[in-house]
Amino acid sequence: MNITKITGYKTTIPLKESFGYFTASLTHLPYVCVVLETDEELIGVGEAALAWDVTGETQAGALACIDLARPMLAGSSIETIEDVKKIIEQVSIALYANTALKTGIESALLDILGQHLHLPIHAILGGKEKEYVILQRTFSFEEIASDKIVLAKDAYARGARTFKYKVGKNWKKELDVIYDVRSMYPDITITLDANQAWDTVELARNFLEKVEGANISWIEQPLHAPDIEGLALLRHQCSIPVMADESCHTLRDLKILQSLNAIDLVNLKLAKCGGLFELVRMIDFCEVHAIRYALGDMLHSSIGTAYNLHAATLGNFATYDLTLPDRIRDDYGEGLMFEDYRAYIPKSPGLGARPKNKMFI
Ligand SMILES: [Mg+2]
Repeated sequence: MNITKITGYKTTIPLKESFGYFTASLTHLPYVCVVLETDEELIGVGEAALAWDVTGETQAGALACIDLARPMLAGSSIETIEDVKKIIEQVSIALYANTALKTGIESALLDILGQHLHLPIHAILGGKEKEYVILQRTFSFEEIASDKIVLAKDAYARGARTFKYKVGKNWKKELDVIYDVRSMYPDITITLDANQAWDTVELARNFLEKVEGANISWIEQPLHAPDIEGLALLRHQCSIPVMADESCHTLRDLKILQSLNAIDLVNLKLAKCGGLFELVRMIDFCEVHAIRYALGDMLHSSIGTAYNLHAATLGNFATYDLTLPDRIRDDYGEGLMFEDYRAYIPKSPGLGARPKNKMFI
């Protein structure tokens, strides 16, 4: 079976409510849907989640890179997992970074292979048998500023037991919310994500000292992404465990952070690392070096979330920070099943989610 056609569709996904954190406030997700066609009429799809503030990618850039990758993909044979690995290696050598786009391409390739082998993607990769995962609840700046108690109560009632608060904007309000929610729910895991908010170790420490009484499980990305020496210093000076997100995209970053003793945890994301193959290499490294790891995402339609749910079977993640469909207005994908904060692992062959719109397929 050979690939005959490669198309990137500019896909702008509207959110129901704006989603603010330190580096951006999102109302729409400017993505590209990658569609690959074959001479056996199998069609594969994948979502490129182009988070310009994290990976530097944009819709225009991704579409241009699809043109560059087309000669490497067109005519390629897909029969085995080794074929897919070889194609991804060729694309990775020819195209630096562009990890969200590579994730979309890899998803489309494995979607085709899964349909060909009559297996869901996670089964091809040897993922653990899981029926579902329970997602965490992440609270945006807007949600922290609004009706915090109603939202927290709703998430708790629906089964969420890990709450993540975006911090770094209004520390008085944030501390107020965090301590209120902690006193309401002594049993939940509370984590914080600063998204690079603080310019110095001292500024980060000032905030973290004030929140020490709230039993915070970890602080995610307190400093600017390149300041990995600062992360190491903060980790040494602060009692709250430190997680890297924007500082850690690929295995190379992870090795450097580990060598500096800069992290307790890392937030692994497909769009940052380039796909499931690199994710597995990073999980293996974390396991060997006793680094805890979470599975995060960039906010997705069902197409991107489906790929993340296959990823969810591949390791012992500390938490699953994936997108519930109620964040999205007009999801262009379908096929996933949710029950409150339970997200079910797709079981049908391939990706397990398809675009609703026939324009794509
Ligand atoms: Mg983060």
